[in-house]
Amino acid sequence: MRVVVAGGAGFLGSHLCDALIDRGDEVVCVDNYITGRAANVAHLIGHDSFTLIEQDIVVACDVDGDVDAVMNLASPASPKDYYAFPIETLDVGSIGTRNLLELADRKSATFFMASTSEVYGDPLVHPQPETYWGHVNSIGHRSMYDEAKRFSEALTMAYHRSKGVDVKIVRIFNTYGPRMQPDDGRVVSNFIVQALRGEALTIYGDGQQTRSFCYVADEVRGFVALLDSDQTGPINIGNPVEFTMLELAEIVVELTGSTAGLVHEPLPSDDPKQRQPDITLATRHLDWAPTIALRAGLAKTIPYFADELARQS
Ligand code: NAD
Ligand code: UDP
Repeated sequence: MRVVVAGGAGFLGSHLCDALIDRGDEVVCVDNYITGRAANVAHLIGHDSFTLIEQDIVVACDVDGDVDAVMNLASPASPKDYYAFPIETLDVGSIGTRNLLELADRKSATFFMASTSEVYGDPLVHPQPETYWGHVNSIGHRSMYDEAKRFSEALTMAYHRSKGVDVKIVRIFNTYGPRMQPDDGRVVSNFIVQALRGEALTIYGDGQQTRSFCYVADEVRGFVALLDSDQTGPINIGNPVEFTMLELAEIVVELTGSTAGLVHEPLPSDDPKQRQPDITLATRHLDWAPTIALRAGLAKTIPYFADELARQS
């Protein structure tokens, strides 16, 4: 297949480029580096099956030649990033997604939308099945991201229903692993970087809120399974094992040997209290389930952050 990966120089996108190239696909990576970095795909430069295009998909997205799939991972994704780029986040979810849907339509390609568990907001149903419509504050501090993704899903389904574009929507739950930016503000990167620097781990609120963390290799395997399937989705891809932030901190402390303790900071507004994917559909239709438990995934991730910090110092 010849696959356009928008946002391919980001954390998840770069691992997706690797997975596609490893199985023999040709990849055209499109990114404007607003939150990603060319270094994430530097090892692919010069590979016969890899092209890197610097392009803001909100402005335009055209690619020469045949295209079999257009995969849309382009969007700021960490709360720190979408707070910093609220308008850009809404633009890429709306205009950027539309530009990619037009490209998929022109090329008769499959369109793959990277959506998020954030479409469930602060969920009142737990765990979250795809049938749950969500509980989102449309004017809250996270609304630029949540509503952009909800709009992306709606636009994707509109192109599917009105123009017959073959589409796939994945709802991604918190994913971690190498190539996360050390300063992206997400909980896994914050805790590991703080522990490695000998700083106290910052627990927002009482730390009783939960998330379910998926290691990047499992997540990307799910994307490829959905791409290859006959499913439209949306389909949740995430690891259903749920942890409080205090439990996560305890594991990071244990794995790093940190002695600096914990410090509590205010909980950001609209921070979801709980999140856990129901993965019945992924298991049934994609034969997918995560295989890497949190401790094992963190053990692979900590050395990456240690190298990054050493490189930066
Ligand atoms: P990331 O910030 O590392 O990657 C996003 C990439 O998109 C970056 O390289 C960025 O430069 C690029 N981008 C943003 N706007 C663009 C534009 N207008 N034109 C071209 N490129 C643009 O984030 P990530 O964690 O890799 O997330 C990738 C996708 O997965 C995002 O769409 C995100 O919403 C979704 N997602 C991620 C998670 C997670 O836990 N990592 C969870 C849910 C959903
Ligand atoms: N969080 C925390 N300390 C940090 C960063 C985040 O306690 O240093 C909390 C945050 O309030 C949220 C959870 O960890 O409840 C996950 O945050 P993240 O930004 O990683 O992802 P999201 O909120 O988008 O799920």
